[in-house]
Amino acid sequence: MSDMRQRLSEIPGMDIILGCEWLQKWLDELGRMRVKRVINNELSEIRRRILNDEDYEFSADSFRESCVKALSSASRPSLKRVINATGVVIHTNLGRSLIADEAVKSMTETASSYSNLEYDLKAGSRGQRNSHIEDLLCTLTGAEASLAVNNNAGAVLLTLSALSKGTEVVVSRGELVEIGGSFRIPDIMELSGASLHEVGTTNRTHLFDYEKAVNEKTSMLMKIHPSNFRIEGFTTSPERKELAHLAHEHELIFMEDAGSGLLVDGGVIGLPSNTGEISIRSCLEASADIVTFSGDKILGGPQIGGIVGKKKYIDLLKKYPLARALRCDKVTLAGFEATLRLYAQGRYDDIPTLRMIRRDPDAMKSQAESLAEVLSHKLRAEVRVVETEDATGGGSCPEIKLRGWGVSVKHETLGAGYIQKLMRGLDVPVLCGARDNEIVIHVRTLQNGEEEILINALEGVFNA
Ligand SMILES: *Cc1c(COP(=O)(O)O)cnc(C)c1O
Repeated sequence: MSDMRQRLSEIPGMDIILGCEWLQKWLDELGRMRVKRVINNELSEIRRRILNDEDYEFSADSFRESCVKALSSASRPSLKRVINATGVVIHTNLGRSLIADEAVKSMTETASSYSNLEYDLKAGSRGQRNSHIEDLLCTLTGAEASLAVNNNAGAVLLTLSALSKGTEVVVSRGELVEIGGSFRIPDIMELSGASLHEVGTTNRTHLFDYEKAVNEKTSMLMKIHPSNFRIEGFTTSPERKELAHLAHEHELIFMEDAGSGLLVDGGVIGLPSNTGEISIRSCLEASADIVTFSGDKILGGPQIGGIVGKKKYIDLLKKYPLARALRCDKVTLAGFEATLRLYAQGRYDDIPTLRMIRRDPDAMKSQAESLAEVLSHKLRAEVRVVETEDATGGGSCPEIKLRGWGVSVKHETLGAGYIQKLMRGLDVPVLCGARDNEIVIHVRTLQNGEEEILINALEGVFNA
């Protein structure tokens, strides 16, 4: 056994490695800087192992092998397509909503050509980027005025900063939510410079709780959609109308963070009526002064934060400097405008999120049956058609359960967790569900053309 210093000295230097024949194609592919960084990481790893393990020695072959692995992984895009076979339509970690074809077309065109983003073609002078969506959003929600910013977290921050900085905002303790990805209402409130005045208890807040909280420092009553949880049982909270009335009696603003952003009644897209999801229009009809929502949750568009409501408040938001820091880029605006146009035309099935939520159970069942038929011939595994519990979205949107269909596949010896891991490691990674010791392919969230990729993927994993 050589001593540690000896073993460390056997590691070749960077210059020698960079001169190796096998590395030359990677220098072309990745550029010298990235190759050096990857090699450096590999070298540090070897040094670490020599320092920690008395027997570990440098081996040129295994070094080369692990470098090639790391280099080829560095040469592939990091952000890439995956197949969502989880049945969760608005998957928080998989990019939320898919964007409608027409919106994608509009986004591509806007990305690669000049546009009238901030140019008024009629007047021949500077225009407003918000003008491209404002009228549509007002038409669809019944609002007097509207504004789109980077996302809903930004919309809430902007609204609180511009309208309530240095004053108090009254919120029910039952609504002090944390949304996945570290969005917490108390934190956003603090950042905005408004002070949070909590009222009520976790399960019950009454109108008189709000009323007692109002004082000369109060500027706003705020309602927040409890997107990813439900408090059940002995609960109460005042109606929107009552809150709005109370706010207006005291000349306060009534604001609602609606979270997901339904532009149509839930029934229209087949949501069960007991879900408590109400449309942006209904919030405004209940006299909310300002409503904020996400563009890429149930609305099914690109990532934006929508703000709709009274013109006098929206005008203040538009002028507030933070609005400039939170503005949407042109590609997003193009996609959002195109998505809103689909709503205006009532073309809900052209919006992928709505189409997947609305999917007909019988159609999903026959899709699962044909998929199972193919798989049972191709795989050395037990294949069954199963009923599934799908969802509109987890974490950051309403946790509404949807009944769906899928195919379960059981490996002779390997556990479901291990199979899931193998499927995540494929060139086009596949994410699927699991129960007992089988994986479950939920068909609701499969896109056109993905079954073929999926079948090949399963063959690779199960017949290896
Ligand atoms: C999702 C959500 C947010 C954050 O919206 P983003 O668009 O992700 O910034 C804020 N409030 C509620 C109630 C939400 O559900």
